[in-house]
Amino acid sequence: MTTTATAAVLVEPGRPLEIGQIELDEPRTGEVLVRVEAAGVCHSDYHYLNGDLRCPLPAVLGHEGAGVVEGVGPGVAHVAPGDAVSLLWRPRCGECRPCLSGHSERCVLGRVEAASGGLLDGTSRLSFKGAPAYHFLGVSCFAERCVVPERSVVPIPDGIPFAVAAIAGCAVITGVGAVLNTLGDVTGRGVAVFGAGGVGCSAVMAAATAGAFPVIAVDKSEQALALATALGATHTVLADGDTDAAIRRVCPDGTDAAVEAVGRPETMRAAFSALRPGGTLVAVGLAALGENFSLPTNELVQQEKRVVGSLYGSASPPLELPRVFSLYRSSRMPLERLLGATHSLSAVNEAYAELLAGAPGRAVIVPGS
Ligand SMILES: [Zn+2]
Ligand SMILES: [Zn+2]
Repeated sequence: MTTTATAAVLVEPGRPLEIGQIELDEPRTGEVLVRVEAAGVCHSDYHYLNGDLRCPLPAVLGHEGAGVVEGVGPGVAHVAPGDAVSLLWRPRCGECRPCLSGHSERCVLGRVEAASGGLLDGTSRLSFKGAPAYHFLGVSCFAERCVVPERSVVPIPDGIPFAVAAIAGCAVITGVGAVLNTLGDVTGRGVAVFGAGGVGCSAVMAAATAGAFPVIAVDKSEQALALATALGATHTVLADGDTDAAIRRVCPDGTDAAVEAVGRPETMRAAFSALRPGGTLVAVGLAALGENFSLPTNELVQQEKRVVGSLYGSASPPLELPRVFSLYRSSRMPLERLLGATHSLSAVNEAYAELLAGAPGRAVIVPGS
């Protein structure tokens, strides 16, 4: 039996998302039907909206979400109808080399979903206007309902609001993991975070929670910097001039670490420049297809600086998400303060316009509102 749902569909890059009715086939073996309660307005979707990055179209966007299981296909063992779940945009097969090494963020099945626009078997459960449509990273939660693999959901413990559970499944894991997993021990070390959006502010929270000092947030927006301060940044730098000089007024030798959550060549260079000798730059911001940046070779070699990429927290999201929930429930990380405006599904294009205009906090779509 098919299910009908309202959804935001990307038909063509450069055009607004189209709000319309989709048809969802019932979940097959190992799949679940989820009623979406909240979906984060992540900048990554915008890269597909404007054509920076490509995916099979038409597609229902949205990749950080949370909701309630409404139906299960054959063989589903770990969740049941009525369970609250967060959605992950990387499944885990448990068998490929990345999964076996504890890095299911690089699971081969994720690439199957991304390339095919389908679920784990590469086929879609979606149609739009009577024609086949595609999933986005196996999630597609800018919709009232979605069908996702059981391997892409994590149960939400009691006491976690859906909006928090939604953003925890992408922005928070990404920012927190860049610090706790990629950088590791930052206690007493200086960390500069470039970009104080959802991911950057999550990195700020993780650095503060882990005892880093100073924690310097860098952004173009005063409002974003105010939020970063509320979340644990000890210093802020308004990116309207010489950020390097401003950072060195706080850390004369440079910072031990930098997190780049913007995805622009100029920010990558600024973050690299902010490092002290031996420092590490973690890049988490996505850029347009083919984007490059250059670095001063001798500074890299003579100062033994490191540059490393980090995807989805650089660990296994099904393990990382419960850790994030635990930090929230123990009041170590006030994730609810990361939340920005709430929008209805029909206002998703306005939500992206506000994101681009620099609205602070992570906006959330509530499809049922
Ligand atoms: Zn995201
Ligand atoms: Zn795998």
